[in-house]
Amino acid sequence: METTYIQTSDGKAKVEWWPEEKFRNRATEVFTAETYERISVPDDVILCDFCNITIEEFPVPVVWGTHALCKPCLEKMSK
Ligand SMILES: [Zn+2]
Repeated sequence: METTYIQTSDGKAKVEWWPEEKFRNRATEVFTAETYERISVPDDVILCDFCNITIEEFPVPVVWGTHALCKPCLEKMSK
């Protein structure tokens, strides 16, 4: 996985370029006293965490290890 850095208004931010496989099999696990539930996150829907558009190009830039970004938002973030 490629890692790059962008210069933002808050300083340097690390950008990880995630391949499609890294978004597969994501799930949210919900535990209560008696139940256990695994809620799958659809594999084919990757949304930009900043503007909510669907990202269809791979690899996807992910900042801070958690936030997927579309290309226009990545450009907006870079100074
Ligand atoms: Zn965006």
